[in-house]
Amino acid sequence: MNILVLNCGSSSLKFQIIDTDSDKIRNNDDRELAKGLIEKVGSQDAMLSFKSTVKSDDPTSTNIYKITKPLADHTEALNCVIDWLNLPSTTIEGVSKLSDIHAIGHRTVHGAEHFKNSVLINEDVIKELEHNVELAPLHNPANILGIKAATAVFGTNTPQVGIFDTAFHSTMPQYAYMYGIPYEYYTNYKIRKYGFHGTSHRYIAMRYRAMQGKTVEETNIISLHLGNGGSITAIKNGKSLDTTMGFTPLEGLLMGTRSGDIDPTILEFIMKKEHKSIEEVVNILNKRSGILGISGISNDMRDIEDGIAEGNTRAILAQDIYCYRIKKYIGSYIAAMNGTDAICFTAGVGENDITVRQRVCEDLEFLGLEFDAEANRNCIRGEETLISKPSSRIKVYVIPTNEELMLARDTYCIVSNNPITE
Ligand code: AMP
Repeated sequence: MNILVLNCGSSSLKFQIIDTDSDKIRNNDDRELAKGLIEKVGSQDAMLSFKSTVKSDDPTSTNIYKITKPLADHTEALNCVIDWLNLPSTTIEGVSKLSDIHAIGHRTVHGAEHFKNSVLINEDVIKELEHNVELAPLHNPANILGIKAATAVFGTNTPQVGIFDTAFHSTMPQYAYMYGIPYEYYTNYKIRKYGFHGTSHRYIAMRYRAMQGKTVEETNIISLHLGNGGSITAIKNGKSLDTTMGFTPLEGLLMGTRSGDIDPTILEFIMKKEHKSIEEVVNILNKRSGILGISGISNDMRDIEDGIAEGNTRAILAQDIYCYRIKKYIGSYIAAMNGTDAICFTAGVGENDITVRQRVCEDLEFLGLEFDAEANRNCIRGEETLISKPSSRIKVYVIPTNEELMLARDTYCIVSNNPITE
């Protein structure tokens, strides 16, 4: 079944076309047929960049399409994807027109307490998503735009599925998700920890299980999703026990531009000192803090490492804080879980940054973690790799994430009435 996976931001649309079914899921043999990105949707110079994985004798053969054009909204953007499928020069195995897409899966950020699993989208689901906008004002409106654009382009006969970043964390116990504030704020306004990156953490748990031949119940790992945003999840008996992001993605680790954990009274202090509104200060915590704020250089770990090589003390400090906080959370989750079998690194920093992985894992021998520095250095991009010694009691893995694959599989399972892979 050809699934169109959509990830819509306020001015962007990312897509993949993935061919999957029960056999392919069982054999881990799903196929990515095409992918693309449209940026600056809503502007005169939206940028389209599409790529198909051409079925040919030459396995490296690809078909790349890049243009800039005016695009008013997400519906126009999605129509460009369909126009591209129709082009004679576009070769995607089994997909050349709109009806070759059998279902659509939407990455949907906030499912609140309502959506504990992926769901078939209908009017009631859209109403509930609209209701959740106040919980995710930056993300859910864009996800709703994506659903409406897909309905406008595909009509109502192509099923659409919502897959929620928060759903994997719906298993957190109440003692883990509550904040220490008056209880009525939870009952009246649903203020609690929700957690994000759930689809990625679920994928990591699934791959770990597949590698180890373990059951869901036997899966006890700490999953480190370290990208521009970052979160750590304690996965006990295959379920999310706790995670570092909270009511919003601002809580927890030091991130590219987000502060992570902070004493809330600092907000009031900055507001008074700098004569700023609460919105301005929250914006600073989201967009101008974290690695960017500390280093003054960049939110990108590659730039930080260049800065460190030049002896830039604030770049050094940014990496120190970054690694320290990750390590601190690993320690607290090991205690909360009564031990872990593995620590798994994923996402942009987790998959690529040798130094960060080394620093996070060093000096943990007392826990039975024997890090393999050479395996870490030799880790090949895009490959699942063990980077602890074979004798290590706690194993350390690099597992490249694949959220789109989870979206496609969930979509297939929902529309074909198959049970969803946990
Ligand atoms: P993501 O949000 O998962 O796409 O991750 C993006 C982030 O990954 C970037 O902002 C960088 O900080 C980091 N990153 C990507 N490639 C590398 C690399 N080769 N070395 C270190 N960090 C990297």
